[in-house]
Amino acid sequence: MPTERRIVTEIPGPRSVELHARRLAAVSAGASSAVPVYLARGHGAIVVDVDDNAYIDLGSGIGVTTIGHTDDDVVAAAQEQLADLVHGMFTITPYEPYVRVAELLAAHTPGDFAKKALLVNSGAEAVENGVKIARKHTGRQGVAVIDHAYHGRTNLTMAMTFKNMPYRDGFGPFASEIYRAPNSYPLHDGLSGAEAAARTIAYLDKSAGAANLACLVVEPIQGEGGFVVPADGYLPALQEWCTANGIVFIADEIQSGMARTGRWFASEHFGLVPDLVLSAKGIAGGLPLAAVVGRAEIMDASHPGGLGGTFGGNPVACAASVAVFEAIESRGLLAEGARIEATLRPALERMRATHPVIADVRGIGAMLAIELNDPLSGEPRADVVAAIAAGAANQGVLLLTAGTYGNVIRFLPSLAITDEQLLDAVSVIDALLP
Ligand SMILES: *Cc1c(COP(=O)(O)O)cnc(C)c1O
Repeated sequence: MPTERRIVTEIPGPRSVELHARRLAAVSAGASSAVPVYLARGHGAIVVDVDDNAYIDLGSGIGVTTIGHTDDDVVAAAQEQLADLVHGMFTITPYEPYVRVAELLAAHTPGDFAKKALLVNSGAEAVENGVKIARKHTGRQGVAVIDHAYHGRTNLTMAMTFKNMPYRDGFGPFASEIYRAPNSYPLHDGLSGAEAAARTIAYLDKSAGAANLACLVVEPIQGEGGFVVPADGYLPALQEWCTANGIVFIADEIQSGMARTGRWFASEHFGLVPDLVLSAKGIAGGLPLAAVVGRAEIMDASHPGGLGGTFGGNPVACAASVAVFEAIESRGLLAEGARIEATLRPALERMRATHPVIADVRGIGAMLAIELNDPLSGEPRADVVAAIAAGAANQGVLLLTAGTYGNVIRFLPSLAITDEQLLDAVSVIDALLP
């Protein structure tokens, strides 16, 4: 496997072009791709396409291959499990790796109290189950979310997601009893954490009524919304209000969790101890797995048989997840978030100094972003972001965009990325910026 970017054909190359024609004939147009290059293999922070072009991957499949593509320990653990038992259907006949993942989640999420977990297949399914459990526990129906949130693509989670295009448009009617309130967005609202929290709380009090809310679901750092880091004190004030009103406080750590920010879960940076934590994306090194974990008395609210699913907590995905937890622990990978931020943030700040279109540099650990706005009018520059994403791919750098207005470039590299790879990727972006 190469360790540097290397472009040997036009992008997309001839084999990708050929595959793309087949794909257009066979795959739903709804499942489109940002970059039409077809991947053949990956390792660490590098992926190689079918034409042998190598790319520095700044997206990790949206924060999934957090400890690196084809991590040796994850591959070995999954292969071993694959030969032993591929499926058991946990709700019929259980197996050990599921129990081990539940134990590891309980040990590594914030809070020094008895915890239990449920394993499912996708982030959206974790959100759905978090809401189910909170409703059963509280006997209430209301679900509170904040502006610019992203929670998934199922019917309930579409309703909880902020952005219409591409996530919701024409897919309704949506689930009811969802209450949306303004978030904390320091670059744009100029509010302190306390002020922003007071606004969110007043909004929910007036629109829903605290006594009707089963849960408040928030991303500690908003992912698709543009890596929005709330002002200091915002999240703790929301949690305090939830606790005082019997509302289950649910942290959607599907993108921000599992060592992404230099802590096991981003909640820790804000002093949060959520009642429930939702995990997915980076939890199993690329295999599909997701979880709801939290206070035992809340997690036990459902009657036996009320939670489950055919593939939920698949043994191979669980074995991979155990290997991810062990790798983070034994290789000290929590330190890599800080290392990446120490390299990347100053590089992004240097870029901002010479490119006034960069309005903000923000994020924590290996979850950083730049927001691009017109320096005079403040208008979002989604056009510039789209041009940079396309131009970077042509030079061997895969990056992700984000933001309600499409004007954010996010840096979500694997913790295995080297400083050289990071700085090389930044130099490509720098040269493309107006
Ligand atoms: C990706 C994501 C989801 C949805 O996860 P899927 O596995 O795509 O269903 C939910 N919440 C957040 C914060 C996410 O980033």
